Amino acid sequence: MLEERARRERLLAQGAGVATACRKCDIGAQRRNNVYGEGDPCAQLMLIGEGPGETEDLLGRPFVGRAGQLLEKMLGAIGLAREDVYICNTVKCRPTLPGPRGPKNRAPEPDEMANCRPYLDEQIDIIHPRVILALGAPAAKSFLGRDFAISKMRGQWYEGPQGIALIATFHPAYLLRQTGGELEAVKRLVWRDLKAVRAKLDESPAAQAAPEQASLF
Ligand code: URA
Repeated sequence: MLEERARRERLLAQGAGVATACRKCDIGAQRRNNVYGEGDPCAQLMLIGEGPGETEDLLGRPFVGRAGQLLEKMLGAIGLAREDVYICNTVKCRPTLPGPRGPKNRAPEPDEMANCRPYLDEQIDIIHPRVILALGAPAAKSFLGRDFAISKMRGQWYEGPQGIALIATFHPAYLLRQTGGELEAVKRLVWRDLKAVRAKLDESPAAQAAPEQASLF
């Protein structure tokens, strides 16, 4: 297992090097740091967000701003630490718009997501987690198509890339924008989704493979 971990770390470091040199999009030249991803290369759970924000761009690490702090609490609620999972984004460079007080965050464009997709696919390939949790609609849409509606379709299991079980929930930044009763309602839904993730991780790998085995008979 140690050798396998080292092998994956090596492959991820190579992937990060390629992504850092990438200039397929304009944001590749505008960003301060490439935010490739981080975490356990042998993680059972991979979290995929939208794209780096200002703090992530500054530090070169995913989910280290306010949304990241909330994400860590969400993980803690199902008994996981940040170090136990692998965290990355659909795009590795911070998408920005010019603003009067410096660049402002914006959602990644479809062509930026498409340009970055080989880096994400390679990460999924190397880590091959048992579960992918897509954070927010853009990440979910990048796997499940643009008709994916987060309010209606979150909290359900889908077959993700390479047959990996995939579920989507609200982005922590969305929770941070809610208040009062709305916040409580969204929190309840996210908690339900997190419990579904925990339950899936707690299934034995054999149980997860059951549908394929059943088709042998
Ligand atoms: N939001 C994201 O989608 N990703 C990050 O890394 C930070 C905030």
